[in-house]
Amino acid sequence: MLNRLEAQSPDALLALIKMHAADDRPDKIDLGVGVYRTGQGDTPVFAAIKAAEQILVDEQDSKSYLGPEGDIGFVNALMPYIFGENATMGGRLAGMQTPGGTGAVRLAVALAQKAGMTKLHMGTPSWPNHAQILGDIDLEMVPFEHANPDGTANVEAVLSAIRGAAPDEGVLLHGCCHNPTGIDYSSAEWDVIGDAIVETGIFPIIDTAYHGLGHGLDEDVAGLRSVLAKVPEAFICYSCDKNFGMYRDRVGAFYILADGQETLDKAFSNANALARASWSMPPDHGAAAVRLILRDSELTLKWQDELEQMRNRMRQVRDTLAEAGVAGSVDLAPLGTQNGLFSVLPVSKEQVAQLREDHGIYMAGSGRINIAGLTMGNIEKFVNAIAEVTG
Ligand code: PMP
Repeated sequence: MLNRLEAQSPDALLALIKMHAADDRPDKIDLGVGVYRTGQGDTPVFAAIKAAEQILVDEQDSKSYLGPEGDIGFVNALMPYIFGENATMGGRLAGMQTPGGTGAVRLAVALAQKAGMTKLHMGTPSWPNHAQILGDIDLEMVPFEHANPDGTANVEAVLSAIRGAAPDEGVLLHGCCHNPTGIDYSSAEWDVIGDAIVETGIFPIIDTAYHGLGHGLDEDVAGLRSVLAKVPEAFICYSCDKNFGMYRDRVGAFYILADGQETLDKAFSNANALARASWSMPPDHGAAAVRLILRDSELTLKWQDELEQMRNRMRQVRDTLAEAGVAGSVDLAPLGTQNGLFSVLPVSKEQVAQLREDHGIYMAGSGRINIAGLTMGNIEKFVNAIAEVTG
């Protein structure tokens, strides 16, 4: 039976990790893998998480089952940070824990399809797993251009996708720090996008995996909040794996905004059933640690301070790249206005290969770079290599 299967191509980024590990040049630079790194190249466990994990070890008195919705204390504790003061929007908004942001996206797409969504409009390029999840669930994806060649958002493209859609279609937006382009909408642009969503009745799914890595916890979700304030219904997919550094612990949440309590309960019962039929219940540890941080003001401040350090470091790298200006045929200035962990350089696959072979600089074939792979010590080498390879 298994022989009937077609072999799938391996994940390109995992292949890149292997190549990077086998390279013994001491000044090699890894811009491939999508995790935050300090100026020393580490991805440490947050001190706030270590402290919360210690409390868990000392105080947790059972590992009995929780249920498909996971740790509701965690889900609720996050809500004011994402949605603001009136976090439940008058009882119209509720959530559940998921295995990472990936689990939330999977659940959102499956539930949307179950509710009758026929197509999902999505800006491309996007996080590759978006297309993979849609393909797996067999929901049609309709792509539109997310980015202009000058490194700004193609707002016309998203507006025409939304305005041309029927009410049984959806649109997937990145809440902040767009992966892979780093290009976010301005608040004025979010405003127009929100209005267009209301006009056509298209269903919004907002994927937020990098909250706090752009400009700040409130700033990064201002656009999301402005849309939610207008629309009757939405799904919000959320990951704590970047902003709490919990990658392998798989900490995420899925929130549903409905037009009233009754619809919310109905939608939620379906989300629970879908979760039960796929992962049954999410892993507990990471979400419990996040809950413990958010219930304690000192730990919360510690977490926010660590998040701010990450954000400031990435901003410093971006500012330094932007100041370098034009390198060969690449204008680095837009990287200064983009946000989060990623940006895409306008380089060809051949140039990506040459950067790897001649300079030990590893990046995805698409030209996506992890900003946190750069440090004050290696930016100059990086800029010079881009100039040489593209000049
Ligand atoms: N959405 C986007 C846009 C992402 O970039 C990612 C992570 N790379 C996720 C969702 C999933 O995050 P997690 O690792 O929590 O599953």
